[in-house]
Amino acid sequence: MKFNTKTIHAGVHADPTTGAIMTPIYQTSTYVQEGVGNHKGYEYSRTGNPTRHALECSIAALENGNYGACFGSGLAAIDCVIKMLNPGDEVISTNDLYGGTFRIFTTIFEKYGIKFHFTPMGDAKQVAALINENTKLIWVETPTNPMMNIIDIKAISKLTSGKNILLAVDNTFATPYLQRPLDLGADIVMHSVTKYLGGHSDVVMGALVCKDEKLSNEMYRIQNSSGAVCGPMDSFLVLRGIKTLHIRMQRHCENGEKIAYYLKSHSKIDKVYWPGFPEHPNHQVAKDQMSGFGGMISFTTKGNKLEDAFKIVENVKLFKLAESLGGVESLIGHPATMTHASIPKEKREESGVVDSLIRLSVGIEDADDLIEDLKNSLASI
Ligand SMILES: *Cc1c(COP(=O)(O)O)cnc(C)c1O
Repeated sequence: MKFNTKTIHAGVHADPTTGAIMTPIYQTSTYVQEGVGNHKGYEYSRTGNPTRHALECSIAALENGNYGACFGSGLAAIDCVIKMLNPGDEVISTNDLYGGTFRIFTTIFEKYGIKFHFTPMGDAKQVAALINENTKLIWVETPTNPMMNIIDIKAISKLTSGKNILLAVDNTFATPYLQRPLDLGADIVMHSVTKYLGGHSDVVMGALVCKDEKLSNEMYRIQNSSGAVCGPMDSFLVLRGIKTLHIRMQRHCENGEKIAYYLKSHSKIDKVYWPGFPEHPNHQVAKDQMSGFGGMISFTTKGNKLEDAFKIVENVKLFKLAESLGGVESLIGHPATMTHASIPKEKREESGVVDSLIRLSVGIEDADDLIEDLKNSLASI
């Protein structure tokens, strides 16, 4: 089945009792058993719920995986992956990553004896240099948030294959429409479903997908034991959102490209970060591992002034000043004070998150209106 058909049909079956074409919202905590241990596959909704199950099958199919698990947030999904490790284990992570991921690694799991290394991963050699006998996980986010760096998933997977090291990829920005990490050698794909998969800014959710059965047993054991699951109503909303993932992503990419080139041509703009530019340092890798460049763009203004950044984000009208990304509506954010405020200043500036950096999540409105909005706002500085 091709991707654009999977978004609509994968994992979803007509309801066996009524024929309902839409998976019902099974708003139930438990299931009546006909006799002790004689049930229809569901015992308790932390362990399994039919609405959530349909969604887990759908996301697994989109990522070309065999097993999916959904969680109460993207961070709950990350939490599950790190709980597969033991004290003394080491993780190599990209240094330019979602602030909340950095926070859970360093403030929650370091105290349980797991060691995290943060490094740029633009070149796989930087990762290879940190691998030792305790390395059990490599954590990749690509494109990275908010600097849009591109990491070569295939090159990193060559470092882990045949070794007892898991490769996990946060695929939130690209979505399986643009990039399928399991096909490139990753063991686990993670999503903040909150973003593009949900797509309508109405749900907070996370997901993991893997291919390997043994790994899936661990994933489901932790999902059930730690209990950070999502509810049936949210699962329904995301099942609905996924049905248009391919058309939304197509438009996000088209609008993203127009806006990236508009910003690049603007006299007050200094740098524009978008993997579709031929001069992007890993443009060729992006072309090889992604089928488009997405709608996430970051930029800085000449002079790098904090007050200019504040003026821009406060003077736009269509772009809404908000955390998050990936919804149908365009959002604008200031990473240094918003999404990445939990990363110490020197650390964030090292990776490029300077005071004037602004991040756009380009929505699916008319691109002309979005450009007009940015033009008016940039006139305020
Ligand atoms: C939002 C986000 C997360 C965290 O997901 P939540 O659903 O907010 O818990 C992780 N990674 C990336 C890239 C994100 O954008």
